[in-house]
Amino acid sequence: MLGAVVVGVGTAGCVRIRDMLKPLAGSSAEKMEVRGFVSRRELGPQQGVDQIPLDAALTRDDIQAAFICTENQSHEDYVRKFLQAGKHVCVEYPMAMSHRGALELWDLAQQKGLILHEEHIELLSEDFKALKTEVQGKVLQEGTLHFTGGALKPGFGFPAFSGIARLTWLVELFGELSVTAATMEEDSGSGYTKMTAKLLTGDGRPLTWVEERQAGLPRAKNIQLVFESGTVSRVPAAPRGTVGLFMQDLVLFSNKLLGLVAPEDLQTERVRVLHCLDLADRIQQLCQG
Ligand code: NAD
Repeated sequence: MLGAVVVGVGTAGCVRIRDMLKPLAGSSAEKMEVRGFVSRRELGPQQGVDQIPLDAALTRDDIQAAFICTENQSHEDYVRKFLQAGKHVCVEYPMAMSHRGALELWDLAQQKGLILHEEHIELLSEDFKALKTEVQGKVLQEGTLHFTGGALKPGFGFPAFSGIARLTWLVELFGELSVTAATMEEDSGSGYTKMTAKLLTGDGRPLTWVEERQAGLPRAKNIQLVFESGTVSRVPAAPRGTVGLFMQDLVLFSNKLLGLVAPEDLQTERVRVLHCLDLADRIQQLCQG
């Protein structure tokens, strides 16, 4: 068995604990056992799992892996600490708030011979899979992905990073991108933020990515993808899969720990993660420049 610790018990951390307590039958997630959680708050046992000090999580021999589920701005420090301590890491996206930070983490993982996995449940959803199938083989002319959602709690960082799941969709659908312009509108009084990034595909087709947030705004992804053969103007509504998204991610991470994922696939993921964080960095620079 592989012992694991969950760091940060908000929504995501609680789901991680739940999934490890009842892993998907017959999957490699059954090899993962939650042996404690770490929190900056003093909490009683959560779902029957004990709180343990950070130092114990870093040094105990029966803990081989950590799930970093805290707010985004603290991910990089926690990931670094656990990698330095010789533990495999699964981190909720984004792993760091800069491309440079992420590169350092990957290098550290490589030096130590450890798995570093960034969760991307947005790629596992049935909706996304249906959209990918719909888009496959079509020639893009231009497109927009406009996300709206409620206000984020403090600590989730610049929208290009907190919204990296949307950018990851675009990269998975259309390949590596470049950034041509980016702007940020903010109204601190009302808590309104709107980031607009202008992107280009490898063959020069324009894509616009908008992240708009304000308390009360409905969570939605509006798309307008214009192809030579017609326009796709909504994400196909596909029925939910039988296995939850975080559970699918847990199986993927467990497969990586058990050496069941091909090195080429690990490399493809690493390249995509770093590319998206590089784009996020550039967008932030353009917005703040
Ligand atoms: P969250 O706000 O529920 O928790 C974030 C952090 O805040 C955790 O460290 C948690 O321990 C702490 N926290 C929560 N409630 C607190 C309280 N009352 N007092 C003090 N601290 C408290 O956020 P989340 O949704 O769990 O997100 C954590 C990470 O997971 C983020 O990186 C996010 O991007 C990622 N993620 C979340 C989801 C999701 O569906 N929730 C999906 C994909 C990725």
